[in-house]
Amino acid sequence: MAKRQFKAESKKLLEMMINSIYTHKEIFLRELISNASDAIDKLYYKGLSDQTIGIQRSDYSIRLDVDTDARTLTISDNGIGMTKEELEKNLGTIAKSGSMEFKNENNGAEDVDIIGQFGVGFYSAFMVSDKVTVVSRAFGSDEAYVWESKGADGYTIKETEKDGHGTTITLHIREDGTEETEEGGESYDDYLNKYKLAALVKKYSDYIAYPIRMEMTRSVPKAKAPDAPDDAPTEYEQVTELRTLNSMVPIWRKNKNELTDEDYNNYYKERFFDFADPIDVIHTRAEGQVVYDALLFIPSKVPMNYYSKEYEKGLALYSNGVMIMEKCPDLLPEYFSFVRGVVDSEDLSLNISREMLQHDRQLKIIAKNIDKKIKSQLEKLLKEDREKYEAFFKEFGMQLKFGVYEGYGIHKEHLQDLLIYYSSSEEKPVTLREYVDRMDPEQDKIYYACGDSIQQIDALPQADGAKKKGYEVLYMTDEVDEFAVRMMGEYDGKRFVNISSAEFELYSEDEKEDLEKKNADMSEILAKIKDTLGESVQEVRLTGSLGDYPVSLTSAGELSIEMEKAINAMPVGEKVKAQLALEINANHEIVDKLKAAAEDEEKLGKYAKILYFQARLVAGLPAEDPAEMSNLICELM
Ligand code: ADP
Repeated sequence: MAKRQFKAESKKLLEMMINSIYTHKEIFLRELISNASDAIDKLYYKGLSDQTIGIQRSDYSIRLDVDTDARTLTISDNGIGMTKEELEKNLGTIAKSGSMEFKNENNGAEDVDIIGQFGVGFYSAFMVSDKVTVVSRAFGSDEAYVWESKGADGYTIKETEKDGHGTTITLHIREDGTEETEEGGESYDDYLNKYKLAALVKKYSDYIAYPIRMEMTRSVPKAKAPDAPDDAPTEYEQVTELRTLNSMVPIWRKNKNELTDEDYNNYYKERFFDFADPIDVIHTRAEGQVVYDALLFIPSKVPMNYYSKEYEKGLALYSNGVMIMEKCPDLLPEYFSFVRGVVDSEDLSLNISREMLQHDRQLKIIAKNIDKKIKSQLEKLLKEDREKYEAFFKEFGMQLKFGVYEGYGIHKEHLQDLLIYYSSSEEKPVTLREYVDRMDPEQDKIYYACGDSIQQIDALPQADGAKKKGYEVLYMTDEVDEFAVRMMGEYDGKRFVNISSAEFELYSEDEKEDLEKKNADMSEILAKIKDTLGESVQEVRLTGSLGDYPVSLTSAGELSIEMEKAINAMPVGEKVKAQLALEINANHEIVDKLKAAAEDEEKLGKYAKILYFQARLVAGLPAEDPAEMSNLICELM
């Protein structure tokens, strides 16, 4: 029979793995056992909704067998098995294994460690074997197939016989004394040693929910014959028994003080396919109205598809150690949808359906507690490890802001103290509490500004004005920011005011009067400018809040400039236009120039257009007619 070739990328990875001097070859066992457990899970869940399957949970197990003469280690399961097509598809390619992508990104620099951390599932078998044979029979089928491969050069598939459904993987363990063992320091013979294997199961697969069994032999004293003299020597016999190697206690059921950070991190990365350690771990046991264990992780990086529709939020839900659902969305509020983890409660029925779960009272209580737990853990992080919190916020802060906005702001009070914004005076992110606590008793508003970047906002005329007056301004650079801030309306009784809005005033009573007078004096010129600009602006006025800048645009209506940008950036829906006011710095020499041009209508018109053009650019808005502007400027030069 002709050999089939592995898909290109699988082959590459396989070669790399076989040839790497990799020091943690032992993880192959964890990978194969985890596959076996998944295969049993699949059949088990099928059985939950299909009574005809009729297999008891206690009938499921994983078996290890060793034949030292033949140098084989066999891992068998009575799970769902694979059809011929599945063998081909699943073992002929490295399907979704993320290790491959990561390796490419890293240019192969850290190949060895990456494989070490994640394994690549089934393929890791080749790290210790020179031949792998997989015999599988899919549940419900009479046909069985054998898949066999000696590594990178390809594989074969043939029909075979097999009693019962499931998969048996036979590894032909490599000989010791080959190049790799000497450098890696590990002995392949270990994988034929039952005590070593038992220790590996304990180390990596202890929490697997099905028994992992192996025949082990031990010496037991023989019972003495009734007539034997008292001092007759005790005789021993070798008893072979099928021993269960794993405790089957899942990690979340274990005591916190038995577990190390490494245990949590390893579990997280393996279970949730992440490359990086989580930023924080929450492990709790609740004993109140509902008893449950929860093990929750806050990832350190946004998953690739996080801000897309594809991302499915949810926590794995277990009833007494048995999984009911891989991702239960009802356990997590939308704003904490980045959290991953497991909830296990003995108060939930195993056979509960998805529809019923949604209305389950217990589940609602658990979800509420989990929400509180996550929030208080984040608050703790914010208080105790600011740097880490900032890193977290960089990744997931946007989700919290969406949370504030969502549902007409029903969660705003719940979430507001988790928000941080860049501060003009501190030059780093600050909380609203910190802002308010430090604010001058005279100041009764929280000032903020929106823009594309900290630099752009910092260059806004109004920011300059506010800083000169000694106000702290919060700089907001996410599109959602202003929507969230408007939803909050106020914090601790202090209203949020955008420094680019008409509401932002920096003047004392005297200054105000002075400004009103100046505006009145200039009213004719200002009206002419407004006429020239037509519908582009609602109003043209003199202001004192621009620092050293000549002109600026401010929002004159409900819709701000940043909101216009955000809404218009959306792929659907109608385009909108913010209502704008053109503000001219009353203390800038440009005012004199305008006055001087007052008699020359044409010149004043040109000035008006150029001022408006500049103001748009400073606000980060596109120029409406760049060619015309270019001509006008040259003309005046
Ligand atoms: P992963 O487990 O990450 O999907 P693997 O390379 O370990 O990647 O396995 C590929 C696929 O092969 C699995 O997703 C599963 O569908 C199938 N498979 C592996 N081992 C078994 C098994 N013991 N029983 C049934 N299917 C299996």
